[in-house]
Amino acid sequence: MFRRLGSTAALASAVCLAACGGTAPTSTTGGADTPSPPEAGVTIIENARVFDGERDLGEVSLVIRDGLIERVADAGANDLPEGAERIDHRGRFIMPGLVNDHAHVGNTRGTEHGDRFYTQDQVSADLRQFQAYGVTTVVSLGMNGSAFGEIRNAVNADPMQGAQLFGAGGGVGTPDGAPPAANMGLQDDPVARPADAEAARAAVRAQAEAGVDMIKLWVDDLGGKAPQMQPEIYKAAIEEAHRHNLLVAAHIHDLAPAADLVASGVDILAHGIRDQAIGDDLVDDMRSAGTGYIATLQIDEANYIYAEQPGWLDTPFLRNALPASVLAQWSDAAWRENKLADPATQDHRDALATNLANLSTLREAGVRIGFGTDAGALPHRVPGFAEHRELELMVDGAGFTAEQALVTATSAAAQLLRFDDRGVLQPGRRADFIVLSANPLEDIRNTRSIEAVWQAGRRVAGPVAEYDAQARD
Ligand SMILES: [Zn+2]
Repeated sequence: MFRRLGSTAALASAVCLAACGGTAPTSTTGGADTPSPPEAGVTIIENARVFDGERDLGEVSLVIRDGLIERVADAGANDLPEGAERIDHRGRFIMPGLVNDHAHVGNTRGTEHGDRFYTQDQVSADLRQFQAYGVTTVVSLGMNGSAFGEIRNAVNADPMQGAQLFGAGGGVGTPDGAPPAANMGLQDDPVARPADAEAARAAVRAQAEAGVDMIKLWVDDLGGKAPQMQPEIYKAAIEEAHRHNLLVAAHIHDLAPAADLVASGVDILAHGIRDQAIGDDLVDDMRSAGTGYIATLQIDEANYIYAEQPGWLDTPFLRNALPASVLAQWSDAAWRENKLADPATQDHRDALATNLANLSTLREAGVRIGFGTDAGALPHRVPGFAEHRELELMVDGAGFTAEQALVTATSAAAQLLRFDDRGVLQPGRRADFIVLSANPLEDIRNTRSIEAVWQAGRRVAGPVAEYDAQARD
């Protein structure tokens, strides 16, 4: 099984360390942060309309104990625990925290990026931004520095440090190929770049021994500009990862390597296929193998959309997520003109259109779809905002209903990575959820109406309207 922290016992003790020891960090989010007396320890959220990650439950009461959902009770139930803190959320909407299966942390600061930003402070600042935007689980899919395991363990023991972090360690790439070290600012390159199958097995073994949660591969010739990982190397890496019970997610761009990776037993394609329409054969192969697919629609759009100055660029929901230097860049007319005049911009638009069409095909065919954005890898892939935009693109461009998009970004995203403790608000699962003022099932853009974010049974952030990326570092 997928190696994972956050067992029930560990969670309960972590919550108690923070909430029972009287050392809970102070915050400005209001009374809900006040540590409860230890003998109470139970919170009941009454009368909210709950989407549990799989279905709309209507108005119910959530009973929360020791960081977990203990019970989902009918509204008006008269046998709820005595002495609990009670919060009336009539008129509000609750859904599970979003699960991002493909993001990055500790790789950007302002308009700069690179592995020199992989510090606990920077990782935690990214994770607090994700959390403020309702993303309570983040899988950092490669390019993590050597401190990954230590940072993950520290962050996951304290919900005030940000979203829960899992990841792939450095990941496995290609010598002089993807991920491109110079473009990604990798000075002390954390990515293993094996030259043959034996070295690939050794790299996977080393990452497994370091305690990574999964293995990431890059299989991409970067538009013909770089050598691509050879099949014998990724086949060896996949086999070795499976020997260690680790899932393998592969960065791809094109159909041909994606098809061979699926035939080679890869568990997850971590980007959408963007060079051509996916064919029936590959769709059938993915469905029968149970291969997961994370489209990352926003990745190509983010390359040009901000230069186009869409009307929503001015909304506080986006602006609050931007460092000052990024906002200044996007407001600069010369930068925008350059960006739009770049011939690559049309390629990015075409890539998004192909990605949307392929995602629609795979959704209709019943292939497993996960949720990810590649947020945090580069400064214009904005943590928090990218996830809500991804949901909107899924609905507006790939034929998802709002409910299907929400299922994908919560329960399905969790199941794809074998997280069996989250993604749904059901008894025994983590109390990681978002309180909204508007119904996301009616309009997917209502996922942005975040009043509060709860993680491990504690209110940890919100409202999102008060978040300010410019104050985060
Ligand atoms: Zn990525």
